[in-house]
Amino acid sequence: MKLICIGRNYTDHIKELENQKPTDPVVFLKPDTSILLKKMPFFIPEFSDDVHHEIEVLIKIKKVGKYIDKKFAHKYYDEIGLGIDFTARDLQAKLKAKGLPWEKAKAFDGAAVVGKWLPKSEFNNLNDLNFSLEKNGEIVQQASTELMLWKIDELIEYVSKYFTLKIGDIIFTGTPAGVGKVFANDELKGFIEDKEMFSIKIK
Ligand code: ZN
Repeated sequence: MKLICIGRNYTDHIKELENQKPTDPVVFLKPDTSILLKKMPFFIPEFSDDVHHEIEVLIKIKKVGKYIDKKFAHKYYDEIGLGIDFTARDLQAKLKAKGLPWEKAKAFDGAAVVGKWLPKSEFNNLNDLNFSLEKNGEIVQQASTELMLWKIDELIEYVSKYFTLKIGDIIFTGTPAGVGKVFANDELKGFIEDKEMFSIKIK
């Protein structure tokens, strides 16, 4: 299975990193080895001094598809999750400056937190889900999927032009503003509405 990640999908986050608003979604992949194992802490890798948390709503694909029209995209997922796209921002900045791929900064072991899954039927409107990230008990990122530049079904249409979606693939839908550095001993908790979706320790 693969993790398909979307970058620059929230205007406020594009501004905080001084990026240009894209005309198409920014897409990159993480391998399955980047998934942080259940109940394991996240270890800050030795090659970075500036690992950032990026809270993101996740979609789990339940059916094989290619060139999926956004009208039918809802048939390809039943579950919604929440995770973190950990990013070695210092390394990413160097790679970006040279026009190189981001994988070393985003696809390393443990760089993808995948929390609990909830049936989408639990929510009235997937395009207005409130979600947040707490760091040591304080909210550091908070947003609604309403603020996405490309909504869930549009993202499925877009990425399935390039990649066949397979059962179990996960889409990371991009992060809102408030990304920041993590330190050893931090505790991160993610919420969709009032539901806790994951809790992890940083080492
Ligand atoms: Zn991200």
